[in-house]
Amino acid sequence: MNKEEEMLDAIFQNAIRFLNISIDEIIHSDFSEMNSVVKTSVFIQMTVELSLKYAIAYNMGNISIKKILTEKYKNHTVDEIYEEYLKNALKVDSFERLKNHIKNIPLFKFNKNEEIEKMEQFQKIRNRLLHFSYHFTSHEISNAKENFIYIVFKIVFPLLYEGYSVESLDYLAPSDFIKVYVGTKKFEKIRSMDEYKKVMLNIADTLKHKGEITIGRCIYCNETSWIKEIGKCILCEYDDRDDVLLRCPACRENKSVIYESINMEYNNNATTGICISCNRKMSVIKCKKCGRYNVYEDDIAFLCAIEGLDESVCDMDCDPISKKNKLPSQYAFVIPAIVISDCIHNNEISVLNKNKNIPKILGKKSEHSYILNNDVDDAVLEGISYLVNQEYVSLNIKKEEILERVHRLIEEEYTNGSFSEMTGLYERLFFSVHSEETGKKFYEVLDHLVQRQFKELTQEEYEILYECRDNLDIDTKIFFGMYKHHELVRPSEIK
Ligand SMILES: [Zn+2]
Ligand SMILES: [Zn+2]
Ligand SMILES: [Zn+2]
Repeated sequence: MNKEEEMLDAIFQNAIRFLNISIDEIIHSDFSEMNSVVKTSVFIQMTVELSLKYAIAYNMGNISIKKILTEKYKNHTVDEIYEEYLKNALKVDSFERLKNHIKNIPLFKFNKNEEIEKMEQFQKIRNRLLHFSYHFTSHEISNAKENFIYIVFKIVFPLLYEGYSVESLDYLAPSDFIKVYVGTKKFEKIRSMDEYKKVMLNIADTLKHKGEITIGRCIYCNETSWIKEIGKCILCEYDDRDDVLLRCPACRENKSVIYESINMEYNNNATTGICISCNRKMSVIKCKKCGRYNVYEDDIAFLCAIEGLDESVCDMDCDPISKKNKLPSQYAFVIPAIVISDCIHNNEISVLNKNKNIPKILGKKSEHSYILNNDVDDAVLEGISYLVNQEYVSLNIKKEEILERVHRLIEEEYTNGSFSEMTGLYERLFFSVHSEETGKKFYEVLDHLVQRQFKELTQEEYEILYECRDNLDIDTKIFFGMYKHHELVRPSEIK
């Protein structure tokens, strides 16, 4: 850590400290008591102020501690600022100015400034409490708990975690963040509160209005909280581990039919599903000839498929699957992700806004597209176009060249799609994304747990490692997270 990072980390740790104190208050306090409302309001406001300072100084990865300091430091060097910091003498800019600064950053463009208004409300409460007295209305008292939870999940989380986007929700959801930095037990207490549900549905609504997501009814918890783009419920956190989402033939919604993908082959490639948009039951049949999924509104297709008559279930003539398009779907995730990660290291692709998540976003997009259309080329190109259109990256290399490398890697790495082949690829991706340094850490964890190389793990050892994933650090967790979402890992499936 250099001096600037050290100062930034001090702010982060302090914000986390106050976040912990605030959450303890939310869990244990009786908010019909005025003292509790006052006390928690002050802690919450301190958490917000520190998180705001962290977000501005972090500056999307271009760390600049000067951004939160007063004019006085304009011409100071980092060393001089660090000296002042050690003497506890740094003068930080006013909350008012910092708050206005964040208003102009698109990443933090909150819903109709609802969040900014909420910040202003708490700023006022804190100032009044400290300098005079604050008169809480009965409405403010009865809504106190919901407001506190709102601030934690809708303001503090995006500030400490670079804003909300559909990908950030997938990469590290607010719930994961609280689990990691405050603890799973405390998160479970918060989750059981009605106010938590309200706030989560509000988050889903905000993202929907920003046009980032489409929402369907979650078939597991029955709330309108299923985010189609990431295949996950924001409320009960169920995700499409076994189920892949297809287009609904009835209501024509994309990525809307959810179904059990495991064991389809024992059922003549047929299974049933349900549309999360129109709630209709569907038959889902994978074509034996071309590998495409076909969805039907009725049971007849399902019954016919069970009888196992036709090679092809496609309406039109379809082509037999080429070797390249016979890959297990996980390959469509991991291979493009490795290639793009290498491109980033070689500066063939520039990452905009310091988005750390590029390989995973591409992997996920291309895997989903591959499942739907069974075409690796289309899948990879679609994924790359998405990254460019979202302005996550700019390319200094031709798309075709990236595709060429994907083909080459498939040629080199794919033999039969065995477990060891896949773990080897995931390991390679891990090192490419997290670098050797983090890799060492990964091996330490691995060594500690099973004293073996990842590639050589038996199913039982792998199971232990997988079960331990909640106790690993974030980077390592994310590595396992990929597995979790893509179900490469279910130990029971390892052959
Ligand atoms: Zn749910
Ligand atoms: Zn539908
Ligand atoms: Zn077909």
